[in-house]
Amino acid sequence: MGVGGFSRTCLKCRNFITVDQDGRVVAHDRPLSRLLCHASGQLAVLVSVEWGPGPRRGRRVVSGGKGHRRDRRKKAEHLKPPEWMPNYQGEHPPTIGLPAKGWFGVWFPAHTMWEHERKLSSWVGSDRSFRWDGREGCWTVAGAHFPRVSRELLRRYPSLLIGREYNPREKCNSSCRNARGFLCTCSCRARNHGHGKWRSGWRTLGEFHGRRAGRPWHWTAVTVAG
Ligand SMILES: [Zn+2]
Ligand SMILES: [Zn+2]
Repeated sequence: MGVGGFSRTCLKCRNFITVDQDGRVVAHDRPLSRLLCHASGQLAVLVSVEWGPGPRRGRRVVSGGKGHRRDRRKKAEHLKPPEWMPNYQGEHPPTIGLPAKGWFGVWFPAHTMWEHERKLSSWVGSDRSFRWDGREGCWTVAGAHFPRVSRELLRRYPSLLIGREYNPREKCNSSCRNARGFLCTCSCRARNHGHGKWRSGWRTLGEFHGRRAGRPWHWTAVTVAG
């Protein structure tokens, strides 16, 4: 706990932590959790480690009384959407980005990194099904959880922005139209996919195209129909 008489608080998880000689945060679990804090192994300067004075000597608050709360820890900042998530009409609604391969990225407003993690953990269950992806700059979730995550987001927010990578040259055929599930990269941009069942109960607010890393993406803002 602390090197050189200083205690350090991880501003991601609020735990007391140690910073090694290279300035990296030593791996630690979060309080009341067996999950590793994602600040583990990162450079302390990058993860807003709070550097405070070590244990005070001499002055101890003995009696009850009112006692000012010494807790002046900075509030952790809300996680910003990664740059590849476009805004919709000038705002950032909760966003899901489905790449052609791999886990999907997810972000939602007014939540810290840790709150993102807590929510995802409660929706997705296992901590093997989601993880922080530093390169994407967002939390990522195993594909199978798309229905649950999108449902939970639409329960809490008025709209949801869903992007997917697609291939304009991939012909839409019967295997797309008769597909189950929601994974689709064909030129119909999932419009015909499984006869649209994957998005039943939603209404489209708007659509637009974009590119990401040179690849075409299609974005749809949806809300709950009704
Ligand atoms: Zn199709
Ligand atoms: Zn399809």
